[in-house]
Amino acid sequence: MNIGFIGLGIMGKPMSKNLIKAGYSLTVFDIYAPSVEDVVAAGAKAASSVKELAASSDLVITMLPNSPQVKAIVLGEGGVLEGAHAGMTLIDMSSISPIASKEVAAALKEKGVDMLDAPVSGGEPKAVDGTLSIMVGGDAAVFEKFRDLLLKMGSSAVLCGDIGAGNTTKLANQIVVALNIAAVAEAFTLGNKAGVDPQLIYNAIRGGLAGSTVMDAKGPMMIEHNFKPGFKIDLHHKDLANALDTARELDAYLPLTSQAFEILKVLRNEGMGQNDHSGILAYYEKLSHTTLGE
Ligand code: NAD
Repeated sequence: MNIGFIGLGIMGKPMSKNLIKAGYSLTVFDIYAPSVEDVVAAGAKAASSVKELAASSDLVITMLPNSPQVKAIVLGEGGVLEGAHAGMTLIDMSSISPIASKEVAAALKEKGVDMLDAPVSGGEPKAVDGTLSIMVGGDAAVFEKFRDLLLKMGSSAVLCGDIGAGNTTKLANQIVVALNIAAVAEAFTLGNKAGVDPQLIYNAIRGGLAGSTVMDAKGPMMIEHNFKPGFKIDLHHKDLANALDTARELDAYLPLTSQAFEILKVLRNEGMGQNDHSGILAYYEKLSHTTLGE
């Protein structure tokens, strides 16, 4: 099976390398030449265009920033759709709007091309280890056909429903993570204002009901003021924008997500978009005139 892989960023680069390690034949494309050279050095071929990549592939995987890039690469001039042939499959692993996933899938279907939306959670370390959690939307038979391949990049792959269900699940994940980070930041800020060391608050509550994977991953980063990404505020802002767009379309009400979105927007406007999302703490510290540890 010939695989085309488009988008060799923080995530796509290690994911594509794991497929090469598993013995698959890969042709790759990215607008950033050094990333292409890096994956070619690991054993891939470079495509000169997206259309050429699609024409020679049985499966195309995309790992791009957001809906506009996926639509442009798949549906735009010289894109995947132009080079695609009936029987080909597209697996989009980017985190995009489920509405966009459905639009792209419908256009591909007219040409006999199947699609799965399969966003991931776990970040760069799990992309490198091949232990991502993969949330999938699409036809069950197509999912079964590619389940083993997905498990070369992840430790779990769960079919959540029809096309778009993978991205809906990813949005649910991003809502829980953002609100959990904001809750931890809010709680630590109160403790600090009251003169109780946030490190001791963390030690005391992490084993109880308030404890969480988010608290364990992001609490220590907040206490150390280490906002090196990780997962950037810019990307989380994008995900919550997609959640709110989707909610608007469905007439669903997301009051807490709206607030978290506004917090992320402020931090971006203050030049902190490239910080890790644990940097949500900076918003609380500024409003309450306090700095953890001081
Ligand atoms: P990234 O910005 O590092 O990588 C995106 C890649 O796409 C870059 O190499 C860029 O050059 C390429 N690209 C952009 N436009 C292109 C185009 N028109 N043609 C070809 N290549 C193009 O982003 P990332 O961190 O790898 O994230 C990719 C997706 O995975 C995003 O949707 C993100 O939300 C999601 N995600 C990221 C993480 C994380 O921790 N970084 C975790 C889970 C999910």
